[in-house]
Amino acid sequence: MKGIVLVLNAGSSSLKFAAFEAGEGALPARCAGQIEGIGAAPRFTARDAGGAKIAERDWQGGGAPASHAAALGEIIGWLEGALQGAPVIAVGHRVVHGGPDFAEPMLIDLGIMAELQELVALAPLHQPHNLAGITAAARRFRGVPQVACFDTAFHRTQPPVADTFGLPPAFHAQGIRRYGFHGLSYEYIARRIAEEDAALGAGRLVVAHLGNGASLCGILDGRSQGSSMGFTALDGLPMGTRCGQLDPGVVLHMIDTLKMSTAEVTKLLYNGSGLKGMSGISQDVREIEAAGGPAAEAALAYFAHRVKREIAALAAALGGIDALIFTAGIGENARGLRARICEGLDFMGLRLDAARNAANAPEIGQDGAPVRILVRRTDEERMIAAHTMRVVTAARAA
Ligand code: ADP
Repeated sequence: MKGIVLVLNAGSSSLKFAAFEAGEGALPARCAGQIEGIGAAPRFTARDAGGAKIAERDWQGGGAPASHAAALGEIIGWLEGALQGAPVIAVGHRVVHGGPDFAEPMLIDLGIMAELQELVALAPLHQPHNLAGITAAARRFRGVPQVACFDTAFHRTQPPVADTFGLPPAFHAQGIRRYGFHGLSYEYIARRIAEEDAALGAGRLVVAHLGNGASLCGILDGRSQGSSMGFTALDGLPMGTRCGQLDPGVVLHMIDTLKMSTAEVTKLLYNGSGLKGMSGISQDVREIEAAGGPAAEAALAYFAHRVKREIAALAAALGGIDALIFTAGIGENARGLRARICEGLDFMGLRLDAARNAANAPEIGQDGAPVRILVRRTDEERMIAAHTMRVVTAARAA
């Protein structure tokens, strides 16, 4: 199959894309980019496979795309030139929620679309945008297979005890479960580690996906055993703007005693908390570190403290730990936070090498320590492209 596998990741106000060459083995990357600020002040950027910027546009002269469909039109218009007419043979979509049943990437048809629509209630802030991206792509690429890849799917292997809350079982039956997210990132990292070192890949890994959204996953023999995220992408670690773990009594207090509306609480917990809410500075670790001061310090200390606790919690669930792997924007870059997170964890065999950490080396643990500490770049788009290629090839063979 010759042509392009296009990957789309539609967020609330952004549409990210990546183009890969279709094929049987590794899928060479061609280019990637995004339109951010859809509906406000959209801005298009694209990079080549090496990461160099190759296009930029901000529509200040007018004609800015005001919807996901219009943004996709702009991206496709640009791709036609950039890919020199190579046909798009499949489109892979990131879909946040696959609910209790979707444990694998799926070829999308009208029936699947209706089922994904029903899951909007489980992820009202993300799922509608993902589905808008699918609808726009299906209209634009008639007859081209579309594949949904779910952020929850990788965690469907977790044992029942990690999939539940302490509620009567009727709630679990109606879908109120600990789904976990960032699954495409964890799957990519688990596969990559297994390719590098089969014995380690079969072992007990704790992966820390620390980006604007942040979570941890415990992985045994390449399969998720649990995540710090739960029913929604709010639980677990504090994030750029989300609160992370919170006593549910706090929410009740906000509504009943402080008389906050559910819309106000939602806005606070999703957009006004975490690193941004605590520091009062920014959601970006670089800006918080640069600004300094007591509130910045409190935010960074809390972030590191919660990550540390979750590492130990997941190691306990796995019955031990063979490697801790940092990934995503903060995990891949924030040396100071990595050092804080690992501080005091030698009791469980984690010993950071300060010089390697400062140099951002791929292996930042000390030689001879019982547990390895690694840094790896995640690539969710590549994982989606690989799934899409596999699903489309299987569908053609059937
Ligand atoms: P997203 O979840 O949006 O994909 P990323 O994984 O790209 O986010 O992570 C973005 C975050 O990574 C930024 O907000 C910032 O906090 C952090 N980050 C990126 N680069 C650095 C750096 N050099 N030093 C510290 N933090 C960084």
